[in-house]
Amino acid sequence: MELFTLTGQQAQGKVWLVGAGPGDLELLTLKAYRILKKADVVLYDALVSDEILSLIPKEAELIAVGKRAGKHSAAQDEINQLLVTKAYTRKNVVRLKGGDPFIFGRGGEELETLVASGVAFEVVPGITAASGTSAYAGIPLTHRDHAQGVTFITGHCKLESRPMDWQAYANSANTLVVYMGILNANTIQQGLIGAGRSPQTPVAIVSKATTAAQQRFFGTLGELTELAAHPELEMPALMIIGEVVGLADSLHWFEPETSPRVLDTSIKQSLGQ
Ligand code: SAH
Repeated sequence: MELFTLTGQQAQGKVWLVGAGPGDLELLTLKAYRILKKADVVLYDALVSDEILSLIPKEAELIAVGKRAGKHSAAQDEINQLLVTKAYTRKNVVRLKGGDPFIFGRGGEELETLVASGVAFEVVPGITAASGTSAYAGIPLTHRDHAQGVTFITGHCKLESRPMDWQAYANSANTLVVYMGILNANTIQQGLIGAGRSPQTPVAIVSKATTAAQQRFFGTLGELTELAAHPELEMPALMIIGEVVGLADSLHWFEPETSPRVLDTSIKQSLGQ
């Protein structure tokens, strides 16, 4: 990887890698808020809400660096270099990412570039989509009666080049959370069932979690592909697979104003209610 450096000079600025949480403004940490308020420049991802961006001082430079489909790696190199460049010219450089920067956020890659260029940095964790979704959809990720552990995986397109270890994810005593999995729902369904996970396992797909537009879609693992193709499903969306999903009806408390529809008939059937 080529790195941008100014020979003989030391970057004066510092980069703050900040998690913006899953959507709800109030899920931003106090530390993230404080750092945003003193930002000179903010490089932000597509997942960061306008509400959160509105907290940034008007004088600050705002740079959208959302991923462009099909150009992931090129864009990532550009972002890495831009962070270094900005650290040479500005004092407080904020790299703002949805959720937590170290969970499927490429935060590690960006920090590696900063390390190689001698740029100072700090990391501010954020509430990851799995935690936000779990809380706002009424689905505890672990529960002594239903799940002894939880695994976060990406259902992203690298599936073919790096095969998924479905055997490891098929454990019925475990909750599986799939980020970026909607387009690969069929592969995920086949993989898990093929590795022995019951087609009756309850699943939830939650879109725009923690926001006023949150929607929950329920079904079974055997119906995952169908569920993921639901015409009303909007991005971003997260899948939760496991017995804990069966608690969603009774533990539900978040009623977003614009989203009264809950498709829960199939989960009721799967629970025999
Ligand atoms: N770093 C982020 C994840 C980035 S990957 C985090 O910690 O949350 C992007 C994926 O996160 C999306 O494809 C989706 O699966 C999930 N995601 C992010 N925000 C979400 C939200 N508000 N509701 C549902 N899923 C979300």
